[in-house]
Amino acid sequence: MGYCADSPRKKMTITTFDQLGLKPELLRALADLKFTSPTPIQAQAIPPALEGRDILGSAQTGSGKTAAFGLPIISALLDRPRGTTQALILAPTRELAEQITVHLKELAKHTPIRVAAVYGGVGFGPQLTALKRGTEIIVATPGRLLDHMREGNARLNDVSILVLDEADRMLDMGFLPSVRRILGMLQRERQTLFFSATLPPAIAALVRDMLHDPVRVELAVQTAHIETLTQRLYAVPQEKKTELLLELLKDNNIYTAIAFTRTKARANRLAAALSKSGVPTELLHGDRSQAQRTRALDSLKKAKVRVLVATDIAARGIDVAELGHVINYDVPLAAEDYVHRVGRTARAQASGDAITFVAFDEEPLIHKIEYVLGRKLDREVNPLFPAIAPVAPKPRRVFSSRPRRR
Ligand code: AMP
Repeated sequence: MGYCADSPRKKMTITTFDQLGLKPELLRALADLKFTSPTPIQAQAIPPALEGRDILGSAQTGSGKTAAFGLPIISALLDRPRGTTQALILAPTRELAEQITVHLKELAKHTPIRVAAVYGGVGFGPQLTALKRGTEIIVATPGRLLDHMREGNARLNDVSILVLDEADRMLDMGFLPSVRRILGMLQRERQTLFFSATLPPAIAALVRDMLHDPVRVELAVQTAHIETLTQRLYAVPQEKKTELLLELLKDNNIYTAIAFTRTKARANRLAAALSKSGVPTELLHGDRSQAQRTRALDSLKKAKVRVLVATDIAARGIDVAELGHVINYDVPLAAEDYVHRVGRTARAQASGDAITFVAFDEEPLIHKIEYVLGRKLDREVNPLFPAIAPVAPKPRRVFSSRPRRR
């Protein structure tokens, strides 16, 4: 799949990184990472981005979109004077910001381009140093960046490339006013690379304000990683979900998994129950400190824990190579969250397994998800947990003090 905007590359099918016109330093980094061919989003986005075009991308995390914007940015910055911040990447969560930073550093490792992360929950000191010395690429969450801007720490006058990642998630988390405030402080002459899985009206308005004649890069929901993914549903009574999970964990093929719950309280309860049953477990949600979140992710990456129990927002952008299983302990309310959750497994070319527990009252949510995916999901029944529709509540008896008439 290739780039199809008006350009000489129009009809070319791109199958190798050499064909994308990337600099040798970047090709070396890609070889180090053992990336042999570009993912569809990379093949589509890199050529126009290298030409300086604005991009409107709808790819999901897991599609390789970090390199899709990272490679053109590093390439452009190599031709410019260094020592000032020239590229700014805004991401909704610290985890995603950290992950983007790590990946960009890998891509820039044979270049002098520096990358720094600026997000909340950790001390200002190292971030202040990075901002003051004019690190060329800053990856930031909006709130902490604004704090630095208010303090006069961040000089963003030279930012000529802006990336907005997971814009729809920024909206969900209430960051849009902060994003607009930051935009107001940047120079208008710039290249913007905008990524959002969905385009609700507020995001469409932002797109109109921010982008100039963008090249649209759209990938269907079923991206490559979704094709290598097994998706199964288990109908199970709500109160039996923990027991079913423990039963499934008897299968030793489940060595690392993320279990998603809908609320922080449910995450706490599930993590406590799993730990009590002897399953090495960590917990990741919005009330956890940065140190706890880092430890949780680290433990999962090093396979020190078997299950990471997480809520949606906290788990955005988590990238754990070889994460084999995603367990939707609760069905997410938004179909997009389902896609984001299962995108945690079967990353890039690997395969994975997504298991969703469906209580009776969650069935309508599954129908929405199946509609978005464009197909029915396979249903399984565990013999120990037969799916039983809850007995409909009996109509309440109304007691009357008056004697009944005969
Ligand atoms: P992202 O969507 O940027 O979070 O990337 C998802 C995962 O795919 C990350 O683990 C990347 O390291 C990996 N990845 C990105 N591009 C490629 C590629 N061309 N070939 C193989 N893996 C890739």
